[in-house]
Amino acid sequence: MAIQVLTDRIVAQIAAGEVVERPASVVKELVENALDSNAQAIRVEVNSGGRHLIRVSDDGCGIQKSDADLVFTRHATSKLQSDADLLAIGTLGFRGEALASIAAVSRMTVVTRTADEKVGTRLRLEEGASIVRSSVGAPQGTVITVENLFYNVPARMKFLKSETTERRHISRFVSRYALAYPGVGFQLRFDNRLVFQSGPSRELREVVASVYGVEIARQMIEFNTQDEGSIQVSGFASPPSLSRSNRREITIFVNGRWVQDVRLSVAVTQAYHTLLKRGRYPIVFLRVSLSTQDVDVNVHPAKTEVRFRDSDAVFRVVGRSIRRTLLDQSPATQMDTRLWSSGDGATVVDSSRSSWIGLDRVELENRASPASDSVSDARELQKTMPDMGVPIFRIVGQVGAAYIVAEGPDGLYLIDQHAAHERVLYEAFSEQAASAHITSQALLEPSVVEVSPESAALLNNHLDTLQAIGFSVEPFGGSSFLVRALPTLLANSDPAQALMVLVDDFEEDETALDSEVDSRIIARVCKRGAIKSGQTLSHSEQVALVHRLEACKVPRTCPHGRPTMIHISVEQLERQFGRK
Ligand code: ADP
Ligand code: MG
Repeated sequence: MAIQVLTDRIVAQIAAGEVVERPASVVKELVENALDSNAQAIRVEVNSGGRHLIRVSDDGCGIQKSDADLVFTRHATSKLQSDADLLAIGTLGFRGEALASIAAVSRMTVVTRTADEKVGTRLRLEEGASIVRSSVGAPQGTVITVENLFYNVPARMKFLKSETTERRHISRFVSRYALAYPGVGFQLRFDNRLVFQSGPSRELREVVASVYGVEIARQMIEFNTQDEGSIQVSGFASPPSLSRSNRREITIFVNGRWVQDVRLSVAVTQAYHTLLKRGRYPIVFLRVSLSTQDVDVNVHPAKTEVRFRDSDAVFRVVGRSIRRTLLDQSPATQMDTRLWSSGDGATVVDSSRSSWIGLDRVELENRASPASDSVSDARELQKTMPDMGVPIFRIVGQVGAAYIVAEGPDGLYLIDQHAAHERVLYEAFSEQAASAHITSQALLEPSVVEVSPESAALLNNHLDTLQAIGFSVEPFGGSSFLVRALPTLLANSDPAQALMVLVDDFEEDETALDSEVDSRIIARVCKRGAIKSGQTLSHSEQVALVHRLEACKVPRTCPHGRPTMIHISVEQLERQFGRK
């Protein structure tokens, strides 16, 4: 075939494909234009999931009559004047592509008036070519109507999803922008029915409620870090008790723009490290603000990707801010009282026969007498210990050789001994690994262990970590390793088994960073080494364990994200006993 230059029409359609993927992308571009025009009220109307009609009305600055013809021209924008402006973009639009692209694949009408004009302008693009212009009476602002989207692009039309799917994308988009711009009133209508509304007069949490629902909004924890230099981070984060099976509910805005940024989303999930089970993700609405010079938004026509000048710094501030908030504010798992039935014959055991590794008896000496039954001392102590995750407990005893019953200032706590010990070991290990001070026990005879090739690769990549936590392991050719020493915690294990514990079905997910792998390895050693449920503990062992748990940085969950304790408040007890 001979080479020929594409017609303008085809070029326009190809270019439009990058910007206008589906009805929601039209809504996105039009709403962003409205926000750029400083609108205080934005109304979005969608019929038939956007196939028939999308109309966005705003009360912003409007477009001057003399400029109006240009809006359909590619690369015509009022938002960039010079090359230098490209280095510090403060508007959502800047490429001058959206209106031209949308007009190329739909029938578009623009009605607009600026504050200085008496009469408004109406423009209509027929067949993507000739502009029909007229004067009309119109309020200040702009109304853009897009009809018959993709009528001339059958390929796109075919790939449009159901109306429900398109509506879901559009309402996600509008509601998230409403959260990011609480000062602007948003309205969304599907087929003339009002489905979403936010207003400048409303509390931010009310907007959160209209986006996520009242129950979730009640639980979301607000965070706001103003003092980290030039990077500001704020938003809402779900407590660990509230999670989702995918990352879709992590919404990130950078300088007022909704972006898809894998690294930032990893920073968010890492903030929940060991607070959530694997495969669970938080609900987070995150706003990051930084100097426009420190972020480049000119990465892709859809403008949903950004590059940071110092992405490590942004990553750190985001992670730290959310982590801090979670550790300071998330409550212990509450007992679900529906499951709380009385008198099933559970026994309280206080046997002093057993003993287990990892507990330092010296600690017991510093501990107040377990017989002290007043929690008011504990309450006093509590006040003087800021930032501590859990109250000081008084140990009552053990139930089912698995749970420790304790009293805190605000009621009863049931502590899972295995999960609690895992957490205690995990923090001790992580700290020791960091300070390279770990106790290790040499094997009488070094042992050769053979693992699968994938596991071998994994071990080889993390030999330093193994060393740091007390393993002495050397590659021994192929997928074999020579084990010379084990962490004291695993001293009684079979070396092959101990090594397998670390790597068995270790699925590396796409975002696992090396540091995450390290901590997962540590978590596995702890799981292996922790006391099991079914093991009877003496009173002093219970006390020592809980004492160490109290000292943990993240005492409420085990390293795998399960709760270490369940709380039953005095009020709950009173309700259950019919006193209230
Ligand atoms: P960009 O937003 O990248 O500048 P667009 O094609 O989206 O490109 O819009 C082109 C121009 O049309 C904008 O620069 C702006 O001047 C004008 N415009 C578009 N929508 C509006 C609006 N709702 N209010 C005021 N001006 C608008
Ligand atoms: Mg635009």
